Amino acid sequence: MILDLNTLRELPARLVIKEDASQLKLLADGVTTIGEARVELNIMQGDHIFFCTGMAVCDVDIECVRCLEQYRTTLEGEIDFSIHEVSDDRNVNLDELPENELIVPAGTTEVDITAPVCEALVLTLPLKPICKEECRGLCPICGLNRNKSQCECKVEETDSRWDGLRDLQK
Ligand SMILES: [Zn+2]
Ligand SMILES: [Zn+2]
Repeated sequence: MILDLNTLRELPARLVIKEDASQLKLLADGVTTIGEARVELNIMQGDHIFFCTGMAVCDVDIECVRCLEQYRTTLEGEIDFSIHEVSDDRNVNLDELPENELIVPAGTTEVDITAPVCEALVLTLPLKPICKEECRGLCPICGLNRNKSQCECKVEETDSRWDGLRDLQK
C-alpha cells in the first residue's frame, strides 16, 4: 500500500486509500483478507517528518477456535506512525528508532505504508476468535460440528462458568 505524498497539496491533509486487501500480506495463520482494505489518514507535517494517524479497516475470514469453521469479521485498527525524511540514512541508527517510524530518503514521494497498516490490523485480531457467542463447537468424541447437527455421543455437558458455584455447593 503506497502513500503518495505528491498528492498532498496542503498539510495537514486527510485522505482515504483503498486497496485490494490481498495486497496486505497480513496477519496470521488461518486469517484471510477479503475484498478491499480502507485506510483513512490524517497527515500533519513537522520538520522532515510526517505524522500519520487514522484508521485501517479490512474484512477477514478467520477460523473459529471452537468449531474450526471460517467466519467473516471486520478488523478496525488505529493507525499511528510517522514518516521521517533523512538526507543520509547511513547516519540513522535503526535500533534507536521508535517502531512506528518509517525512514525514507529526503524527497521520497511514494512511501510504502503496508507495514504500519498491517500492524494496526493485526493488533485487533481476537486472541480466541469465536464465530458467534453461542457457538457450540465440535463434539470432543466424534468431531461433529454441533452448530450444524446433533450426534449421539454421550458428553457430559458442563458449563465452566458455573464451576465456582458448584464447588461452593459441595
Ligand atoms: Zn464457531
Ligand atoms: Zn459426537
